[in-house]
Amino acid sequence: MSAEPTWAIALHGGAGVEPTRDYSPAVRHLDELVRDMADRLKAGASALDTVEEAVAAMEASGLYVAGRGSAPSTSGVVELDASIMDGARRKAGAVAAAPQLMHPVRVARDVMETTAHVLLAGEGALAFAQAHGHPLVKDPSAYYVLPPGVDAEDLTPDLAAAGRQHGTVGAVALDTQGRLAAATSTGGLFGKLAGRVGDTPLIGSGTWADETVAVSCTGTGEYFILAGGAQDVASRMRYLAVPVQAAVDGLIADVGHLGGDGGVIAVNRAGEVAFGCNTPGMKRAAAGSGFAPFASL
Ligand code: ASP
Repeated sequence: MSAEPTWAIALHGGAGVEPTRDYSPAVRHLDELVRDMADRLKAGASALDTVEEAVAAMEASGLYVAGRGSAPSTSGVVELDASIMDGARRKAGAVAAAPQLMHPVRVARDVMETTAHVLLAGEGALAFAQAHGHPLVKDPSAYYVLPPGVDAEDLTPDLAAAGRQHGTVGAVALDTQGRLAAATSTGGLFGKLAGRVGDTPLIGSGTWADETVAVSCTGTGEYFILAGGAQDVASRMRYLAVPVQAAVDGLIADVGHLGGDGGVIAVNRAGEVAFGCNTPGMKRAAAGSGFAPFASL
């Protein structure tokens, strides 16, 4: 009898939690979602489809600062960032500062599959989504909600205060055929300037997947960009020959040295999952062929 093929998935719903706030709806959601995604992977789903589905479910839930739970920039418009990367084909797609997208990650996937480009921004991303039949938010005031655990006082233009907690969502997966993929989606930082783009839609900063590792980041994106971000985890593994957890810890240390905060999830081709954050907690979940599913803060 052959052994169960190796697979694994990890999710995050943002780094940084405030001790006085209730994140149990998000943790329950992550717990259910990771089990659902585990069943799909066990049944042979691709890592790429799985990370897209996981992130789309988080975007639709209104429980995180992504998709439905996003808040407007200082212009009063919700501007969304998302990216997805297929490690096996080394292909990626992304959207940045894009208004009205109901499922930014699905539009990012479509950019990857149907264009010669990696990143579409702003009105161009919206026009692409429209032309390709993606659902759009018609009435922002009826659609967007404040996620549980986020208060109106968080919607501050103060970048330092905005760094107290993050609600970006991300997924990384290894499928039974050994393929790795990663996806990340966000409404960005609270109180961000109109047109501001963080790490999330930048391939190599917020998201990375190759034949060795898949990575998704959350935190004050400016620092992840300046520290090299998700691709730095892959480089550490490749050039320093360190385990995935040490590579994640190295990136988080660099972000911290620069003054940034946040968290990282990663999975390698052996199905080992790594988490790291320099914030008090990170909403997260994981499941794999080698360990029991869990969800925690
Ligand atoms: N990294 C995201 C950004 O800078 C924010 C977050 O993770 O909450 O846009």
